[in-house]
Amino acid sequence: MKKPMPLNEFDIIKTYFTRPPKQSSVQQAVGDDCAIVSLDSNKQLVFSMDTLVSGRHFPVDASPYDIATRALCTSISDLAAMGATPLWLTLGLTLPEMNQAWLSAFSDGVYAIADQFEMDLIGGDTTKGPLTITVQVHGQVAHGHSLRRDQAMEGDTVFVTGNLGDGAAGLAVLENRLTLERPAQDYLHERFYAPTPQVKIGQRLIGLAHCAIDISDGLLGDAEHIAKASGVSIVFDIEKLPVSKYLKGVEQKKMWAWALSGGDDYQLLFTVNQTQLASVKHLMDTQQLEATAIGRVVSGRGQVSCCLHGQPYDLRHQPTGYQHFAS
Ligand code: ADP
Ligand code: MG
Repeated sequence: MKKPMPLNEFDIIKTYFTRPPKQSSVQQAVGDDCAIVSLDSNKQLVFSMDTLVSGRHFPVDASPYDIATRALCTSISDLAAMGATPLWLTLGLTLPEMNQAWLSAFSDGVYAIADQFEMDLIGGDTTKGPLTITVQVHGQVAHGHSLRRDQAMEGDTVFVTGNLGDGAAGLAVLENRLTLERPAQDYLHERFYAPTPQVKIGQRLIGLAHCAIDISDGLLGDAEHIAKASGVSIVFDIEKLPVSKYLKGVEQKKMWAWALSGGDDYQLLFTVNQTQLASVKHLMDTQQLEATAIGRVVSGRGQVSCCLHGQPYDLRHQPTGYQHFAS
């Protein structure tokens, strides 16, 4: 077979990261010094950036497709947590080498997720170095209507979307610390590499929820962010934590530890006051919102605690969340 011609940086961008934009708001996508987009005058721009480092945020042997889907999904989850509509993204790519098979699969992963959320890749940067992926996502929200971390109030009910613990269990599978049967193995692989950003639910919660955050670092750690920012405390009922059927076979203590502080779940944690509770329950009953009530907001100063069947549950041996400079 003929060896492909080596591509320079501009060929890479043109071949793998240039497609006609789908959003009419995009005036200039990849190809000039900057991207240009038009903004709706009654909307606010919401944006967030995340960097994934090989061996730190994904295993070194991860496939390029999986790396791309994880990078996009985890970033888009931040937009979901604000109730924003995803629109555009930019991509910072640091590559150790020019490998066309790798780039092709990576680019497929990028566009698979971008297309799913009708986002356009409108720019980025490509450099040589240790494999590192930075994704900046941009979205919009109606003026003053974003969900925030600092609005939880005493008396609110605390909900979480989807299941907890899948991200940590997925990582355990990838690192051969957990072996399960085939469907469970595949389910957890997918949960780790393509966690579902809860964009629709985030948008649906505007006007209903006081407060929301996406669980990237673990339920306890992220709940603490809400509690501290809002000047309240939060109590969870451990027996109510939603866990996938695939995790039910795992030893209970381990399963709860993953659900409480494993991280990487990218579900939304949100709080609802008594007035809006009926509307949220109606959405849940009509399958428009998959969520579980797992706790309550109480008076306090940023503490997060747990009960098991009404009795205090000791969290002393529980790590509170992922911290980048902790180890
Ligand atoms: P400059 O020298 O002005 O920084 P670059 O050579 O870095 O421009 O990039 C050229 C164009 O390609 C720009 O529009 C930039 O946004 C885009 N671009 C570079 N790398 C990527 C990438 N990985 N994904 C998408 N667009 C990219
Ligand atoms: Mg550049």
